[in-house]
Amino acid sequence: MHRSILLSAVLFAFVAASTFGPLPVRASDDLHAAEGAKPGSYEDWCAEHKVAESQCTRCDKSLIPVFKATGDWCELHGLPKSQDLKCNPDLKIVRPPKQGA
Ligand SMILES: [Zn+2]
Ligand SMILES: [Zn+2]
Repeated sequence: MHRSILLSAVLFAFVAASTFGPLPVRASDDLHAAEGAKPGSYEDWCAEHKVAESQCTRCDKSLIPVFKATGDWCELHGLPKSQDLKCNPDLKIVRPPKQGA
């Protein structure tokens, strides 16, 4: 009697863990721009980091040297100054409007 309750509790925990475990990483659908999105367009937007996807150094680390080369870089926060809301709280980064909607 007690044994079967324990067993079902263990089973439930197992099922719950496998059901509510870490979610699989989602493909670039709603958070990130699709491959080939036009830079500066509505589609070119990283919803995770609130910057243009084509300029998102957190998604594409290969962009970092480009920003560093132009002096647009905050070493402290590891971000382009033009995206660094910690150093520039008044900075407004807005998503370009949708075209032809
Ligand atoms: Zn990003
Ligand atoms: Zn900073």
